[in-house]
Amino acid sequence: RIVYVNGEYVNESDAKISIFDRGFLMADGVYEVTTVLDGKLIDFDGHAKRLTRSLNELDMKPACTDEELLEIHRELVKRNNVEEGMVYLQVTRGAADRDFAYPKDAKPSLVLFTQDKPGLANSPAAQIGMKVISIDDIRWGRRDIKTVQLLYPSMGKMMAKAAGCDDAWMVEDGSVTEGTSNNAYIVKDGVIITRHLGNEILSGITRAAVLRFAKEAQMKVEERSFTISEAQDADEAFVTSASTFVMPVVEIDGTAVGTGNVGPVASRLREIYLDEMRKAAI
Ligand code: PLP
Repeated sequence: RIVYVNGEYVNESDAKISIFDRGFLMADGVYEVTTVLDGKLIDFDGHAKRLTRSLNELDMKPACTDEELLEIHRELVKRNNVEEGMVYLQVTRGAADRDFAYPKDAKPSLVLFTQDKPGLANSPAAQIGMKVISIDDIRWGRRDIKTVQLLYPSMGKMMAKAAGCDDAWMVEDGSVTEGTSNNAYIVKDGVIITRHLGNEILSGITRAAVLRFAKEAQMKVEERSFTISEAQDADEAFVTSASTFVMPVVEIDGTAVGTGNVGPVASRLREIYLDEMRKAAI
């Protein structure tokens, strides 16, 4: 695989980052994941905008312009012949002597690589639906910033697997925040309910698109918090993320949601999302 590291396209085995990089030592970095369908990028602009916001919130400098970023994404997709998969991008504050205070003039490190994921759009999981468990949300208080600090979400995913499930929904003060790597939704009496934005969750790029399409299709949307018992009592549940699009959830903590099968709202939103985003891909 050809990867991109600080201005160069190199073979993955030749890629080098300093052991003093603050991304490595302190998780002092942010990332984005952009999906590739038919060899094209899905919602690149959305991801580029959120990256800029994450960098600003952490007082980090952009490593290059959005135009240059797009060019690097496209070049990697081309060089690695990615038809269906993703481009991972990470910016860290860069290398400096280890110190809690931010270094003044560190040069940000920029790394991008691709991952092939054939069958992403036709995933059998979308027909079956996912099972989730609930876990306490003990992450830090700035989940709106897409940092590389992903240890607790990783642990949550492992807890879900140990319980024979696919993912975990995190709960804080009695309300669902989000999934380990996705935004969470329920559907009750035709209304799509998903937590309002704030510091408690990541503002999903897929979330923004799905809510826009839902409103355009005259579906009702409520942005508010909900509990696990409200979710278990809902007609449908689903999650959204760049790499899973709209993915139905059919069981929460061992309780079937609605009929326990994939529901019509999640299926329809998945179809609309994939159709519209393929059309707009660049
Ligand atoms: N919430 C969390 C915690 C995530 O890690 C992600 C994606 O990685 C999302 C939500 C969904 O965001 P997006 O739709 O931009 O992929």
